[in-house]
Amino acid sequence: MKIAMIGTGYVGLVSGVCLSDFGHEVVCVDKNPDKIGMLERGEVPIFEPGLDMLMERNVAAGRLSFTGDLAQAVEGAGAVFIAVGTPTRRGDGHADLSYVYAAAEEVAGCLSGHTVIVTKSTVPVGTNRKVEEIVREANPALDFDVASNPEFLREGAAIDDFMRPDRVVVGVESERAKEVMGEIYRPLFLRDFPIVYTGLETAEMIKYAANAFLATKITFINEIAALCERVGADVKAVSRGMGLDNRIGNKFLHAGPGYGGSCFPKDTNALARIGQDHSVPLQITETVIKVNEEIKRRMVEKLQDMCGGSFNGKTICVLGVTFKPNTDDMREAPSLTIVPAMIGGGATVRVVDPQGRREGEALLPGVNWETDPYAAARDADAVVILTEWNEFRALDLTRMASVMGTPRLADLRNIYTREDALDAGFAEYVAVGR
Ligand code: NAD
Repeated sequence: MKIAMIGTGYVGLVSGVCLSDFGHEVVCVDKNPDKIGMLERGEVPIFEPGLDMLMERNVAAGRLSFTGDLAQAVEGAGAVFIAVGTPTRRGDGHADLSYVYAAAEEVAGCLSGHTVIVTKSTVPVGTNRKVEEIVREANPALDFDVASNPEFLREGAAIDDFMRPDRVVVGVESERAKEVMGEIYRPLFLRDFPIVYTGLETAEMIKYAANAFLATKITFINEIAALCERVGADVKAVSRGMGLDNRIGNKFLHAGPGYGGSCFPKDTNALARIGQDHSVPLQITETVIKVNEEIKRRMVEKLQDMCGGSFNGKTICVLGVTFKPNTDDMREAPSLTIVPAMIGGGATVRVVDPQGRREGEALLPGVNWETDPYAAARDADAVVILTEWNEFRALDLTRMASVMGTPRLADLRNIYTREDALDAGFAEYVAVGR
């Protein structure tokens, strides 16, 4: 089947590449000419492990191509996926649907034969019906269906998540659309990955409910971590003790500096707004949003305390600024709160991140970018681990402590232990919830 993928961001590009690997003919389209230029040259505009090789293989096989020309991309397509951004709308916390609606209108003008228009972007309940309306109005003669197919991939593990999903959720209202979606995901169905067919509203809701639940789980353990610090408990052992209970599970139960990223902050905000709009305030989600902000602030205080009460005049080496490892995505990363607070307080900040610099340079003005953790730690007053990249999991702590001015380690991802740090010569070790 020919498939058009609108939007070549983290979701659109991975989905397009993986669908071509299933054997479909996929044309990816983006309105950003720089991205299309890179993709046409065989360059991947984002960092996602394994994506470059999979892309190369499918381009070489003639199943995958890129264009800026929407009409060409959708011509003859059995399905057109909309995978554009749905960021938080300025001012009110709602999801900004303008990119989705604009894409729907543009698509409508280019289609002729029967097509399923599939929303892959994360969108509030009711959006697919609005997409249907927009397309019908723009092209009344068009024979089409809409489908909601929210995406659950995680950046950093996106290909595996797409190829081996826990489930695929498909919201459809006609047998014809169901058949088309079934054909697209047939390779997964044949390998027994569950496909959950629902109505449009339910599919839209599943995505927000899942993300809000995961954000709640992370925030819950972060709050427990704060209490652990006061009462002398170890949150790592608490997580393990909780997570071994199958009803709870060990995923998303690691205490840290607060959740960030391209999804949880905007999706919890959007869900809270949907609840308010329907007079069903989602008190748990609203509280999670507030507590997560507090956790990030608490991290700043923790670091300031470690630096003797003030950042002024201190040199701080930050390891990791992306919102999690194995991605270059900086959206809503805790570093965007913590690093400016240190600089604002008068610190000199050196940053090492394996992939974060390209995005991070504009977002973190005033930091000094370094490539080697030991060089960055030279004469510093503190090392702060903000993102648990593999590169930072097996540091030579003795070497690091020996080059620092004042050897202090803030391990906000709980990678090391107090004994590791003190034995290596650190004078101070601060973690989360221990
Ligand atoms: P992104 O910002 O990385 O990419 C969006 C792309 O769409 C951009 O390249 C942009 O130029 C392009 N675009 C916008 N309007 C266009 C149009 N009319 N025609 C062609 N291209 C257009 O976004 P993302 O992170 O890939 O997220 C996309 C959607 O998927 C969002 O709704 C997000 O919530 C959801 N989602 C994201 C993730 C994730 O981990 N990033 C996971 C699951 C779901």
